Amino acid sequence: MSAATKKGGERPERVPTHLRKGDTVLVIAGRERGKSGRILQLLTEKDRAKVERLNMIKRHRKASGNAAGGIVEKEASIHCSNLQILCGRCNKPTRIAVRRTPEGKRVRYCRRRDCREAIDG
Ligand SMILES: [Zn+2]
Repeated sequence: MSAATKKGGERPERVPTHLRKGDTVLVIAGRERGKSGRILQLLTEKDRAKVERLNMIKRHRKASGNAAGGIVEKEASIHCSNLQILCGRCNKPTRIAVRRTPEGKRVRYCRRRDCREAIDG
């Protein structure tokens, strides 16, 4: 986040992402730039996502009861604007478009001109 960002009073800018749990995404900015992984959890209200084995942080946990203490590694969330979905068909990072099937189902598809394949199932 840039230092010039104003604090308070402003409505946070919501970037509509079409990410879902289980999607494979590429990190396009930040510490993990260039790496990819599967979305484990979406924090929709914060526009952030946890990606498998990416942006790991270490938590030092005290032993309590019969649970052993020690250093626990876990995923920290990454802002969705730093993520780009990887198309499973063309294997490239892409943007998502949504269209409706004649049955009224929403289907996400790859926006690359040479691909245009549906990303869901
Ligand atoms: Zn594609």
